[in-house]
Amino acid sequence: MKIARFSTGGDPRFGIVDDDALVVLKGDPMFAGYEPTGERVPLSDATLLAPVIPRSKVVAVGKNYAEHAAEMGGTAPTTPLIFLKPNTSVIGPGDTIMLPPESNQVEFEGELAIVIGAVARRVRPEDFAQVVFGYTIANDVTARDIQKADGQWARAKGYDTFCPLGPVIETEFDFASAAIETRVDGVLKQSGNTSQLIHSIPDIIAFASNVWTLLPGDVILTGTPAGVGPFVDGQQVEIFIAGIGTLTNPAKNRGY
Ligand code: MG
Repeated sequence: MKIARFSTGGDPRFGIVDDDALVVLKGDPMFAGYEPTGERVPLSDATLLAPVIPRSKVVAVGKNYAEHAAEMGGTAPTTPLIFLKPNTSVIGPGDTIMLPPESNQVEFEGELAIVIGAVARRVRPEDFAQVVFGYTIANDVTARDIQKADGQWARAKGYDTFCPLGPVIETEFDFASAAIETRVDGVLKQSGNTSQLIHSIPDIIAFASNVWTLLPGDVILTGTPAGVGPFVDGQQVEIFIAGIGTLTNPAKNRGY
C-alpha cells in the first residue's frame, strides 16, 4: 500500500494511492488507521508533500555499501556509522534543493529510507518489523567540500532542503532486493540494489535504537550506493527505487 501526504490547496491530508487517484483518509494513518472519508482525489489534482515530517530526527547511516565506501577512499566500517540530519532539512517531492553559497560541491546520495511507526528503544533485530511503518526514498544531500573541511558532518548534511523525502511511503516494501538508481537530468549516475546493504535493515534499527529512542515519524536513511557526484543550479535529481517510485527534486542556487 502506498501512502501519500498531499495538498489540494488547503491543509495537508493523507491518502492511499489507487491507480491514478488518492483514496482520502480521515487522518494520519500512522496514528489514526486507514478509515477513508469516501472522497477520491485524482493524482493530477494533488500536490504530493513530504510523506512524513520526522517528529524528532532523521538518522542516517554512512558508508553502508562497500563500493561507495571504496569511492570515498576507505573501507566500510564494521559497526554502523550513524549521524543525524535535522528535521528542518526535510523537503518533499518536487521541492527545490537550495544550494548554499558556502559550498562549491553539493552532491546527491540516493537512499532507501525507513519510516518509524512506533516508539522504538533498544529494539532487537528480530523485532524490527514492530516499529516500521513503511519505506520511502531519500536524497542524503551533502556539501562534500564542507564535509571534508569540517571533519564531521552536521553542517555538510544538515542544510535546509538537504533531505528530500518521498514521493510516497510503501508499507509492504520488500527490502531484500530492490533496484536503486539516481539520475541527474536523466543521466544515470548511481545503480545499486538494496541487497548490497552491508548492515541490514533489522540491524540498523537495532543499532540506532540502542543509542536514541526513535519516535513515530522518525526516518532512517540506510546509506547510498556507489556513484555519488555533484549537481548544480538548474539541474534535476531523480532517485528511483523499484517498488516505491521516483523522488524528483530540482536544484537552485541560494542567493544569500
Ligand atoms: Mg548518505
